[in-house]
Amino acid sequence: MIGLVDYHMHSLLSDGKNTYEEMIRQAISLGLEEIGFSDHVCIRPVDWAISMIDLPVMTMQIMELKDRFADQITIRYGIEMDYFPGKEDEIKDVINSLPLDYVIGSVHFIDDWNFDTDKSLYGKWPNDEVYKMYFEIVQQMAKSGLFDTVGHLDIIKKFRIYPETDQTQLIEDTLKVIKENNLVVELNTGGMDRPCADFTPSPKIIESCYHHHIPLTISSDAHKVGQIARHYASAIELLKRIGVEEIVKYEKRNRTMLRI
Ligand SMILES: [Zn+2]
Ligand SMILES: [Zn+2]
Repeated sequence: MIGLVDYHMHSLLSDGKNTYEEMIRQAISLGLEEIGFSDHVCIRPVDWAISMIDLPVMTMQIMELKDRFADQITIRYGIEMDYFPGKEDEIKDVINSLPLDYVIGSVHFIDDWNFDTDKSLYGKWPNDEVYKMYFEIVQQMAKSGLFDTVGHLDIIKKFRIYPETDQTQLIEDTLKVIKENNLVVELNTGGMDRPCADFTPSPKIIESCYHHHIPLTISSDAHKVGQIARHYASAIELLKRIGVEEIVKYEKRNRTMLRI
């Protein structure tokens, strides 16, 4: 684990189970070089995101911990921000109000449907249509210019929802937009412990990212201490097998590359 990063972690302030400090101590014991917190921020009121009124508390806590643990681990300040088409100005205002190192853009909604927590609407449309709706929102998100990383790119498969027909073209079109807009894709290992039991995105998409020269980073989507850097050994093995030699690190919304 020496020299690795974990840029996707949730604390008690959103839907995680531990404090920042508990997560930091675990990351240090694992030997991680750098971690980033990314609590959920959502402009719609949802019970799994931080309340807008608590944003200054989040900033204050992370800044204090950054300093206090500086000699043991590098701590970055990120958020996992929900994207909603047409709400770019509102999202931008929130992002710009915080001293962030990076912003993960995630799509958890198709219109009003919070598809990764609410299974009730699966079956209403063909899965092909659901995939098309989801990835079109991801493309709009990439074009918005608001985000640094695409969060769990194929999370639409979370509940083992798979398209009826081959969607390679839709994925390729989406990767093209991601590349054109200079975003990073995270290899989110958390999907291994979700019903889909697969990295998000899948190894095949990670490989396409590499071929499209889309930079990658790695993260666990930890919601408790025991999930930090989960499945990293197999994730790193996958990256190396594909040919990936370096992953992205963030500071103040700038990138540097880290050799793996
Ligand atoms: Zn998410
Ligand atoms: Zn997350």
